Amino acid sequence: MTTKKITKILIANRGEIALRVIQTAREMGIKTVTLYSDEEVGLPHCLAGDESFSLGSGPLKETYLNQDKIIAIARSCGADAVHPGYGFLSEKSSFAKKVKDAGLIFIGPSPESIDLMGDKKTSKIKIQELGVPSIPGYHGDNQEISFLIKEAKKIGLPVLIKASAGGGGKGMRIVYEENEFQQALEGAKREAMNAFGDDTVLLEKYITSPRHIEIQVMSDRHGNHFHLYERECSIQRRYQKIVEESPSSAVSPELRAKMTEAAIKITRGINYEGAGTIELILDTDGSFYFLEMNTRLQVEHPVTEMVTGLDLVRLQIMVAQGDKLPFTQNDIKQRGHAIEVRLYAEDPDNGFLPSIGTIKKIGKTTVRDTRLDCGYVDGNAVTISFDPMLAKLISWGESREVAAQKLNLALNDILFLGLRTNRDYLKRILTLPEFLSGTTYTHFVKTYEDKLQKKQASKEQRALAVAAFLLKKDQGKSVSSHEFKTNSVWERLSGFRNI
Ligand code: ADP
Repeated sequence: MTTKKITKILIANRGEIALRVIQTAREMGIKTVTLYSDEEVGLPHCLAGDESFSLGSGPLKETYLNQDKIIAIARSCGADAVHPGYGFLSEKSSFAKKVKDAGLIFIGPSPESIDLMGDKKTSKIKIQELGVPSIPGYHGDNQEISFLIKEAKKIGLPVLIKASAGGGGKGMRIVYEENEFQQALEGAKREAMNAFGDDTVLLEKYITSPRHIEIQVMSDRHGNHFHLYERECSIQRRYQKIVEESPSSAVSPELRAKMTEAAIKITRGINYEGAGTIELILDTDGSFYFLEMNTRLQVEHPVTEMVTGLDLVRLQIMVAQGDKLPFTQNDIKQRGHAIEVRLYAEDPDNGFLPSIGTIKKIGKTTVRDTRLDCGYVDGNAVTISFDPMLAKLISWGESREVAAQKLNLALNDILFLGLRTNRDYLKRILTLPEFLSGTTYTHFVKTYEDKLQKKQASKEQRALAVAAFLLKKDQGKSVSSHEFKTNSVWERLSGFRNI
């Protein structure tokens, strides 16, 4: 095992995650290189590195997804490592391999691990071999519709059709009745082909009241595998996480022991290296199933950092340079409770329409034990070219209740003036009695749709609603899921990230 101290990291990403990597690299005395596309000039990540290079302009495949261009920049500026962040190239084994072949260190797992776990189909086969339960279903090669219908009936309806290469909830359809199958299959395949260039699907039993629980793992190159406990990410909208927390109110010490044991069985079984996340689905009877593994840093990693006190980016860098992780499992403690919310440039009270414009003022919070991971500063423009996530706000408290209270208070201070955001919607979630009691199933947002749209509106919102009512005669009509789809401009744009 050779160890080589990393001296300069090129960050193949943008926004808040680029800034997050810089923060740790700086603390470790490592130089950083950032990238930007021409339309991003003025965003903080462009100039935050010790050096910065333009990727030019054009579609993402010419910029943040252009593997050769990024590697050429890394080589020419003398970087010795590449951090992929999340989304973009972070789970492309071809990129990890090219980085290695160029003599650079990829801060992430091996291309083989990415290949094995990056595909929902191959990972499920491996997981079964390792004896970890996965959701009953079909994940074979036969894609004939008549065959798939037979399999769906064998599994028992409802079933979920999923894109094998899936991510970000794309290419997923629930089928309740046999006669809906064909249309759902066609829709899933079309969406999967558009998003991933691969329309292979798999079938899974649809768990009707699940919770999304995931285990953070970290493995070094010396055969040491650790878990950093669970995160619950059940509060989702259209299969995308919006609130994440650790610990989960649904996980008892006994269940935690079983889940973390399963996670370590996986990382050991595939000889994993670096940071990863084992996503599990928890059913109401306490049984849990493997959903997928993400072979990278997650958007929601700060909640784990808040409860364990560990810096996940530092651990990633240490692993990548061949260091032995400096702790035992017993040293890793879960203390207090942390909650994260994702602030988006969208208008929840108007069909989640995207919001673009110039940020007049972001605001600052003085609420203790909070953290804002944000890729913007006042005066920046938010456009439709990139992910609509503006920032992540995270709070910590001795208890879940205190963490939720602090987060709700801190949200008052994070304004993003000039844009419509989901801030008030997030506040409504955090103050809903059903959230506070911990009954957070993945259908939470759908179940409490009405309360989240209308209840606990702020004074400012009420005034706006009255004004809108006077102007628009259709005010007050609830937005149908069909309208959600057609309104979701972000989803039709290439910049929508796969996280
Ligand atoms: P993606 O990779 O597109 O994000 P996942 O497989 O990770 O897709 O699933 C995303 C979310 O969809 C999960 O967090 C969960 O809410 C829901 N989900 C996935 N599989 C099932 C299932 N079999 N039954 C019920 N819900 C599911």
